[in-house]
Amino acid sequence: MFRLEAEIIAIGSELLTSHCIDTNSLYLIEKLNSIGIEVKFKTIVRDKEEDIIQCIKNAISRSQIIIATGGLGPTEDDITRECFSKALKRKLIYYPEIEEKIRERFRKRGLSMPLICKKQAYILEGAKVLMNEWGTAPGMKIKEGNKLLFILPGPPKELKPMFEKYIFHELKKLSKQFVCSKSIKITGLTESQTETLISDLYKKIENPKISILAYPGQIEIRLIAHSDKNYEAAESLVENMIDKFRERLKNNIFSTSGEELEEVIGKLLKERKETLAVAESCTGGLLSNRITNVSGSSNYFERGFVTYSNEAKIENLGVPKDLILKYGAVSKEVAEAMAIGVRKIAKTDYGLSITGIAGPTGGTPEKPVGLVYIGLAWKDGVLVTRNQFLGDRESIKFQSTQKALDMLRRHLIQKT
Ligand code: ATP
Ligand code: MG
Repeated sequence: MFRLEAEIIAIGSELLTSHCIDTNSLYLIEKLNSIGIEVKFKTIVRDKEEDIIQCIKNAISRSQIIIATGGLGPTEDDITRECFSKALKRKLIYYPEIEEKIRERFRKRGLSMPLICKKQAYILEGAKVLMNEWGTAPGMKIKEGNKLLFILPGPPKELKPMFEKYIFHELKKLSKQFVCSKSIKITGLTESQTETLISDLYKKIENPKISILAYPGQIEIRLIAHSDKNYEAAESLVENMIDKFRERLKNNIFSTSGEELEEVIGKLLKERKETLAVAESCTGGLLSNRITNVSGSSNYFERGFVTYSNEAKIENLGVPKDLILKYGAVSKEVAEAMAIGVRKIAKTDYGLSITGIAGPTGGTPEKPVGLVYIGLAWKDGVLVTRNQFLGDRESIKFQSTQKALDMLRRHLIQKT
């Protein structure tokens, strides 16, 4: 199956510093992928003539579609126009009507056009002008042999609408591909466990294309398929693969429709008309925060305590003082008492508790940083897990909430 391939050149020395990120190419890649065009290279290049010219020549030698961004401005360092002129051996031609448009923009703001802006009225010989209603520098579309080149300004607020208006639909027609993309979200498995379980299913398959992304406490598998027939054909390629993954990954998959874990447990609780209360120590309210990020959470979330000190655990949750003295606040026994206590006080169906050591200080050989006990209490039972998370403070806090939500999720789906 013939597929178009594209290349992106992001031009600008600022993009090669640590404080400016090339977000344009991320946007362009997403858009191009959505119409079945694969991006084979992206290059970030500084504002230096010979480097830019080399990038342009490389791109033309190997890619069918080339999109360059940035360096169309009026300043000294904006040399994209001149570089394309030299690389393609095409003259720059002055368009008085473009200068007039730029003057008009300044006039509307009560200003006169600085002389340096005049260079933005120069367009490559044979190029189609892409008018810029969102800024001053116009873009260009150039046919070079059987290659298609687009030059767009760097500011994302200009690039995005211009791409939408002048380029997206044309490329979509050229591409003739229907694309379906979905993602599977997994928790409770590491990246290597996931990979081991499924690698034989997809390693030699190119359609759908699979990518695995690992975050602390969560793995995502992205599937993107294309078809030159219709959308349904692409979708069934994705769905068939998801079915195969589901057989292997089972309940470790919590979503195939983009939902976060807190949304999934929200739905489950709502369906069952059941309620939840939580008691958090080391996560400092993050669990409650995540639960309440979901609109409609008042239907099932009753309250959340941040019981950081021993006193708070005793006063608010009724954890026996002796228990804390005997086992310590970070212990299976205290996690259990917290979960049972919060459920009882809030009169909810479920109580979740978290107590642990988020670090980086406060660890001991017996209770190292990242040790977190998580409790789940329900009408006639209680479950406590001992977890050893890795990472910095923030990551340990997140993983703790992830695990707590997942314990509840697994309990809820097991019941049905
Ligand atoms: P201008 O007329 O605004 O100068 P330009 O085409 O010359 O337009 P640049 O000077 O290259 O654009 O970039 C202007 C600003 O746009 C940069 O300072 C940066 O903030 C942003 N920008 C440029 N390229 C990118 C990129 N690839 N990703 C994200 N932002 C970018
Ligand atoms: Mg500029």
